[in-house]
Amino acid sequence: MITRNELRELASHILKESFYVSLYLDVDPKTNPKGKWLLNFKNMAKEISGGLNAEDRAQVQPDIDRIEKFLTDRPDGMQRGLAVFSSQASNFWRHYNTALPFSNQLIIEHDPYIKPLAAIADLYQHYLVIVVRGTRARILLAEMGQIEETSIVINVRPETDPARDGSTGDMGEARLQRQKKEAQKKLYKELRSVIEKMQREEGIKRILLGGTESGRGRFKDSLSDALKEHIVGEFAVEYNASPSEILKICMPIMNGVEYRFERKALDELFNQGGGGDGSVLGLSDVLDALQQGNVRKLYVMSNMTTPGMVCRNCGALTMVRDKPCPYCGGEMRMINYMLDLAIQKAIDQGARIDMLEEAPRLVEAGGIGALLRY
Ligand SMILES: [Zn+2]
Repeated sequence: MITRNELRELASHILKESFYVSLYLDVDPKTNPKGKWLLNFKNMAKEISGGLNAEDRAQVQPDIDRIEKFLTDRPDGMQRGLAVFSSQASNFWRHYNTALPFSNQLIIEHDPYIKPLAAIADLYQHYLVIVVRGTRARILLAEMGQIEETSIVINVRPETDPARDGSTGDMGEARLQRQKKEAQKKLYKELRSVIEKMQREEGIKRILLGGTESGRGRFKDSLSDALKEHIVGEFAVEYNASPSEILKICMPIMNGVEYRFERKALDELFNQGGGGDGSVLGLSDVLDALQQGNVRKLYVMSNMTTPGMVCRNCGALTMVRDKPCPYCGGEMRMINYMLDLAIQKAIDQGARIDMLEEAPRLVEAGGIGALLRY
């Protein structure tokens, strides 16, 4: 899983003089019989090297070689997608395994190309999965295609009163019920503090609740309305189900939730004036807002690329222009992946990113829009 911290760290590598080689590979065994991905990489490397001048080629060759060696040695933990970033000149090397495949891309720019990773980090929100039964609970973390059991297991034992042990009849039964209720109350309290901690420290806002219908219902009754809102889905499951069984049940629920959030995000963007107060559409206005540090949330089509310019002196981003930087008079440099740079700048400013797959209105507006801070 890629954390927001790692993404922020990648986004901070911006506008160096040296080159960064970014590789995205589909390494899904199903679409890559006999490790075809290695051949795919070699072909891309050959093609991209052929398009460079001799000086640039000499600069990136050590990175290409390092990546090729890395792939040939078959990296550990490979799943279906692999992202690698290398810049020997900047002493920089990172790689990430993902549960979903990327489309094959090899990109040479002056910073890491992070858009596909940002899309994954954002599309594949982390979910807190709670399975509750009686006076016990298991807690798991899930995202699209991946699940991990956390070390947190809460098991509250009903307290028994030794002096009255062995008592029978209605009195004993009533006491047992009371003790069980007390234990459940304790369990729910501990669960609430786990949820609050996960929200605070990991930014996880989406909760899936599993167990029997009555068990889920009792737990939900103990939650405030604010916490209840974070439960975005429920499912029936055996308490001792394996993580992969739980994931199988959760996948379609997570798909539906993400789709709903995407629709909601677009409504937000287009209904906040559609270019009036509160939001802007199109690259030019978004870049202005970024320059002013005024972007609260950025919306980008995940499958579009647009060229633009970046100032060599102050780092300002602008549309393609033949004049010097409008902010400092510095010399401008052409950039092929402008939306990616806009994402990096937005992450740097602490903005949220929403990558969208299907949004014809946003495509019409140039594939990019933003909600503003003020
Ligand atoms: Zn400038």
